[in-house]
Amino acid sequence: METVSDDVPPATESKREKKKVCVVGAGMAGLTAARELRREGHAVTVMEQSGDVGGQWLYDPRTDAGDPAAPVRVHSSMYASVRLLSPRECMGVSDFQFLPKHGVPGRDPRRFPGHREVFFYLKDFCHEFGIMEMVRLNTKVVRVAMASEVAARWQVRSVRVDPESGEEDEEEEEEVFDAVVVANGHYSQPRLPTITGMGEWRRRQMHSHSYRVPDTFRGQAVVLVGSGDSAMDIALDLICGSAKSVHISANTPVVDEKIMTPAMRKMLANHADLHLHQQIHRLHEDGTVAFADGTSIMADCIIYCTGYRYSFPFLDTGGAVAVDEDGWRVGPLFEHTFPPALAPGLSFVGVQKKLFVPWFFEAQGRWIARVLSGRTKLPPVEEMMTAVEQYRRDREVAGVPAKYAHDIGGVNPSETYEFWDKYSELPRREEWKRELTRAVLRDINDDRETFRDLDNDSDSVREGLQTWLGLSSDDALHQAAGAYAQV
Ligand SMILES: Cc1cc2nc3c(=O)[nH]c(=O)nc-3n(C[C@H](O)[C@H](O)[C@H](O)COP(=O)(O)OP(=O)(O)OC[C@H]3O[C@@H](n4cnc5c(N)ncnc54)[C@H](O)[C@@H]3O)c2cc1C
Repeated sequence: METVSDDVPPATESKREKKKVCVVGAGMAGLTAARELRREGHAVTVMEQSGDVGGQWLYDPRTDAGDPAAPVRVHSSMYASVRLLSPRECMGVSDFQFLPKHGVPGRDPRRFPGHREVFFYLKDFCHEFGIMEMVRLNTKVVRVAMASEVAARWQVRSVRVDPESGEEDEEEEEEVFDAVVVANGHYSQPRLPTITGMGEWRRRQMHSHSYRVPDTFRGQAVVLVGSGDSAMDIALDLICGSAKSVHISANTPVVDEKIMTPAMRKMLANHADLHLHQQIHRLHEDGTVAFADGTSIMADCIIYCTGYRYSFPFLDTGGAVAVDEDGWRVGPLFEHTFPPALAPGLSFVGVQKKLFVPWFFEAQGRWIARVLSGRTKLPPVEEMMTAVEQYRRDREVAGVPAKYAHDIGGVNPSETYEFWDKYSELPRREEWKRELTRAVLRDINDDRETFRDLDNDSDSVREGLQTWLGLSSDDALHQAAGAYAQV
């Protein structure tokens, strides 16, 4: 495959400011942002603590299990059986779509492929656009702070990480940049609930961050705390992987329609050994798990599928950007991207949740790149602060819980499209992709076990798909009719 050089801006645009920019993290967000930054003419260095790019999609069989509260050493929380929840058609960046590669060994052409296919897509993306030239692997950022308030430059300290042992060098390297783009991800730092008796529990307990395969749960009774995407997927993985029984403990009343969705009803009906319970009231030393409704079971293991905290241990902004106590919110961030007082030198990519990515990161990266070059202007600091406050108040008034502070796709999908239209200056999202998105959300809610293998695309989606795949209409119909479902 040929390497496309997109790093040289046309001569007529040479008046743009060219900045020296550090990107923290080479996951989807960092890689996508790096390409946009370089396209705009900036000199980019991406620092990545792991031995390869990919972030969450760089599957790591190692775990941080043992003590769920122990410091995180393994970044990826992917489990072996992960298959996408998002259709590949809606994910890719605008000029490098996530197309299926039929007949290529090792590739997974399904609409909802396994995690490795996403990793391969990211590797292809790096290859296609020469991204690796910008990436410094095995380099962990340990401190980001303002180097000079007057000239608004940023000091970045990093250490080398031994690829074999994971040990970090003691010696730190210090460099100064005009701007830092933070893209360190937010699915690594476990969020643990507070449950009475957690400290007394002597049997296995872990966070879903450390779940990989069902093998070690064979014949066991497992309690999953939480009822989100991870809990649902791990429950199915365990039940099909011969756990004796799986007990989902929801933190809202089980009669709530948010919990008792058609998909949940079907899962419970399909698997006699899968049970839904109320919130846990107490854990006991002997392995008893007592639920709020007075029932109890004996369990061998508890897996906390309770989400993740935002964490930026390297960031020293003197409080100008902070994570709230619960780890749900980082801010203040204008459009979840720029901390008003430190913009544009400091920015964040990938803080938002429930998005189609890296598609969305393309818009975010482009916006940051253009603000840094002076092509686009940010509003004055006070105006950005007012907007952040207003956004927060609007969500409070709408009854959106704090835990969804950065969830834009799940709370209001149109916000995602609005962001794209406002900041990317790229063509609008195609209608057939919007329709496919709505259909997938509907299907997931209807049947979690089958939604990936349905053959129910509408005519307009099939038509869009045909153009997308660059296929004849017969081929496109064949694809849409389930060829995706066969590896
Ligand atoms: C189990 C699971 C299933 C998922 N399923 C889907 C799905 O179906 N569809 C979907 O769109 N998304 C899914 N996601 C979300 C997924 O995380 C995002 O798609 C995407 O990976 C986020 O990219 P990111 O670059 O923001 O973060 P990450 O992928 O986490 O990348 C961050 C990178 O920063 C690096 N880093 C962190 N700290 C430092 C440091 N101090 N110095 C240097 N480097 C650092 C990390 O090593 C990592 O490479 C899933 C996530 C999980 C955990």
